[in-house]
Amino acid sequence: MSSKSTKHSFKAETHKVLNILTHSLYTNREIFLRELLSNASDALDKFRFLQSKGDQMIHPELNSEIRITIDKDANCITISDTGIGMSMQEMQDNLGTIAKSGSEQFLKDMGADKASAPKEKAESDDKAEGDEVTDAFVEDEIIEKADDAVASDASQIIGRFGIGFYSVFMVASKVEVLSVSSLQNAQSDNAKGYKWESTGDSDYTIEPLAEDSELLRGTIIRAHLKADAKEFLEEYRLENIIRSHSNFLPFPIYLNDKLINTTPALWREPKFSIKPEQYDEFYTFLSDDKDKPFDVIHLAVDAPVQFNALMFIPNKTEDHFLEQRDSWGLDLYVRRVLIEKDRQELLPNYLAFVKGVVDTEDLPLNISRETLQENLVLRKISQTIIRQIMSHLERMAKSDKEKYNKFWKMHGKYFKFAFNDYAFRDRVATLMRFVSSTSAEELLSLDDYVARVKSAQKDIWYVSASSKEAARLNPHLERFKRKGIEVLYLLEPVDEIALESMTTYKEFTFKNIEQATSESLNEFTDVEENKPDLPEMTSEDSELFTEMLASMKEILNERVTEVRKSDRLSGSPACMASAEGMSSSMEKLMRSFQKDEGVPKKILEINQDHALVRSLVNIYKDDKTSSFFAEMTNSLFENTVLLDGYLSDPYIMAERALKIMEKAGEWYVDLRNK
Ligand code: ADP
Ligand code: MG
Repeated sequence: MSSKSTKHSFKAETHKVLNILTHSLYTNREIFLRELLSNASDALDKFRFLQSKGDQMIHPELNSEIRITIDKDANCITISDTGIGMSMQEMQDNLGTIAKSGSEQFLKDMGADKASAPKEKAESDDKAEGDEVTDAFVEDEIIEKADDAVASDASQIIGRFGIGFYSVFMVASKVEVLSVSSLQNAQSDNAKGYKWESTGDSDYTIEPLAEDSELLRGTIIRAHLKADAKEFLEEYRLENIIRSHSNFLPFPIYLNDKLINTTPALWREPKFSIKPEQYDEFYTFLSDDKDKPFDVIHLAVDAPVQFNALMFIPNKTEDHFLEQRDSWGLDLYVRRVLIEKDRQELLPNYLAFVKGVVDTEDLPLNISRETLQENLVLRKISQTIIRQIMSHLERMAKSDKEKYNKFWKMHGKYFKFAFNDYAFRDRVATLMRFVSSTSAEELLSLDDYVARVKSAQKDIWYVSASSKEAARLNPHLERFKRKGIEVLYLLEPVDEIALESMTTYKEFTFKNIEQATSESLNEFTDVEENKPDLPEMTSEDSELFTEMLASMKEILNERVTEVRKSDRLSGSPACMASAEGMSSSMEKLMRSFQKDEGVPKKILEINQDHALVRSLVNIYKDDKTSSFFAEMTNSLFENTVLLDGYLSDPYIMAERALKIMEKAGEWYVDLRNK
C-alpha cells in the first residue's frame, strides 16, 4: 500500500454478496464480461450526454470506445473505456456498495413473499447518499436469506441482485479499477485519477494514480483471474461471449485490437435511414435463414412502455407443429444487451413464426428470468406488439391482396389460432382466409363471402373435410350447390373449432352444412336442375322402399342408429347424418380426445331417386333375404362412412368390393351369352 492509500470496508450486504460470488460455484460466470462491458458502455453514454449538453470534458479528442486486452503471462484481462470515469468519491459510492437497484430488488423479492412486485425502472444512475440499506433488521434479513440461498442455489441469488460490477469477483481474485473522471474539476486533491483495488474480501483501498499513468480519461478494469478461470484468457472464448451478450452495444469493442461488434443494433436506428439490404442481413444474422424475409415490422414505441422492436416474417412455413416448437418468441434486449433469446412471453404462440428482437429501457439489466415471468413491462410490450402486427397485416390485406394471401398460405395455419385470443378475435376473423365451393382455388375472406350471400341468407355455411376433393364429394353439399349457396371448405380441424367458438361473423351465424334442415333451405330456389332422369317411384315401390330401409337397418344392426329416406341428396345414393348438434368433424375431434377409434353410430340416409338405390329396391323385391342384397347394403354403408371421413376396416371393404365385382363380372358374361 502506498502512503496515500486509504483503506475502506465494504458495507455489510456488499460483503455478503461478495462472499457468495467468490465462494460459490456459479455455472454462468461468463456474464461478468457482459456486466463490465455494459458499465463501460453506460460510462461512454454518460460522457456523450454531458458533452452534448455543452459541459467541458477533458481530452475531447479521444475516441469513444472499449478495449479488451488479454495478458496471458500476467494472467489478467483488462477492460478499458474512454467514458465518464469516476472521482474518488464516486469510486467509494459506486464500487463500495451494492447498486441501489440491486438491493431494492432483492428486498422486494426476499422480503414478504406477497409483495414481490417486479421493479419496472432501472435506477442505477441516481444513487445518492442514504441509498444503502441501513435498517439493521432488514440487513440481517438479507444476510440470512442470502445464506439460505447459497445453500440452495447460488445462481438464483445472483440473478436476483443487481450485482453488476461485483460479478467480476466470480472470476477474479484481485481487481484493480483505475479511473480518471472526465469532468475537469472533479478531483478533490489535484490527483489525476484514482486506483481502487480489492480482493473481494471485507475491504478495498483507494489511492491516487501514479504520475506517469497513461490513462487520460475513463476507466480501466484489471481482473487478475482465479486459477480456475483461465478459460477467460482464451481470445475465442471472450469473442464468443462478447458476440452473444454484448454484440449490439453502441460503441466499438476491440479485443486485442480486433473490432468484434460489427453488426449495428439496427432496431435502434431510424427506419428511414435503413436500407432493405441491411434488414435482410440482420434477418440472416438473427435466424440463420439465408433467404430474404417475407416482411419486416420495425417499431419504435414510447408509451405505455418504451421499446424498439425489429421483427421479421419468414418467407417459408416452419414445419414444426405448434405445440412441439421449442424455440419461439423474441430476443429480449435491455439497453442493447441480450437478456434472453426466444423470450416466449413477448409473443403469443399464434405468432410463433415471427422472428425478431425487442429492446427496452424500462427494465433493469439484471432482471432475473424468474422475475421476468410476471413482469408488467413485458406484458405491455407484448400487447403493443400484437396490436401492431395485427394492424400491419390488416394494412397488407387491404393494400396488397396477393401478398397477404401468400402470407396466409405460409403462416395462416399458426396465425388462425389467434381466434383463442379474445382481445383480437374480431380482427382475426376478418383476417382469416378460406377456399369454398365456388372459389376452390382463390382464397376468400369472410367479407368476400358475406358480400355475395343470397338475399335472406342468415348463415355462413361450411363443410369440414380433409381435402378439397373430400369436401367437394361430401353428399351434404349437393343441396347447397343446387341452390347456389356458397359453402366454405374447412380443411384443418382447427378451422371448425375457430368458427364454432366465434359463432357469428357480423350478423351471420356459422353453420355446418350437415346440420342444415330442409326447412331452413326451402326458401332458396334451386338454380340448378335437380330432378334426376329417373321416373317417379310407383306407390308399390315406395312401400317396398320403406320396408327395405327397415331390412337394411337389420343388416347394419348396431352400426347405425337409423336408416331413413333422405331429402337432401341428388347425386349421391346415401349419406351419414348426425341426430342433432355435433357435426362429424367435431365428433371426430371429441373422439380423438377420448381415444375412440371406432366408427361413430349415425343415421344412414338413403336417396330414393338414385339409380343404385332403385336397383337395390329391385334386388330386394326379387329376394328379400338374398345374401347379395346384404353385401350391397354393407358395401353402400362402408362407402358412405368413408365419405364421412371414417374407415373402419379397409380389408373387409376391399374384400366386399371384390366379391361384388366378381358377381358383376359373371352376370355380364351371362348377359352377353344370352
Ligand atoms: P449498475 O451498472 O446497475 O449501476 P454496477 O454494479 O454494474 O451497477 O455498477 C455500479 C456503478 O459503478 C455504476 O452505476 C457506475 O456509476 C460505476 N461504474 C462501474 N463501471 C464503471 C465504468 N467503467 N466507468 C464509470 N463508472 C463505472
Ligand atoms: Mg452495471
